[in-house]
Amino acid sequence: MKLTIILGPMKSGKSFDLISFFSPLKYTATKYVLYQPKRNVRDEGIESRSGLTLEAKKIETLEGIADQDFSIIGIDEMHMFEPSEISHIEKALAKGKEIIISGLDMDYKGEMFDTIKRLLELGPTEVRYKRAVCNECKQFSATHTQVYDKGAPITHGMPPVIPDDGTFSYEPVCRLCFARE
Ligand SMILES: [Zn+2]
Repeated sequence: MKLTIILGPMKSGKSFDLISFFSPLKYTATKYVLYQPKRNVRDEGIESRSGLTLEAKKIETLEGIADQDFSIIGIDEMHMFEPSEISHIEKALAKGKEIIISGLDMDYKGEMFDTIKRLLELGPTEVRYKRAVCNECKQFSATHTQVYDKGAPITHGMPPVIPDDGTFSYEPVCRLCFARE
């Protein structure tokens, strides 16, 4: 059992890491699968900003992943799953599966998602923190994701997971540029 977690803001190359990991498996006998939450309405499959794509199954719950015939399981946009879903990951790890997960670590307020907190409590084998270029100061130090409504940062009054359906825009920003309530 091995648990790898890739965390970071928008545009930090999390999907690229997932794709780099899974793409070669296509040519091996390894049984693997990639999942995305149904709540992710933006993407069909996993797409990196460099144009690489990977097929992913959209699911509402991770229930049952421990019982399937895959030895390696990838999960994209983990923060969109409910914290209660972590128990299914725990079961899959107990069955000896390797799991590699990516997602945002912090919400639009700069607070860690409960789901990610619970995930880290499992004691991962590796946690990779990615950085992006800050949308404001253009330094390669963005750790947060700022959500904008017509150019103005949203700092309160939203649920932790804001649907990325085109209503708002998402940009990586550094700790210093991050606008708080
Ligand atoms: Zn900045």
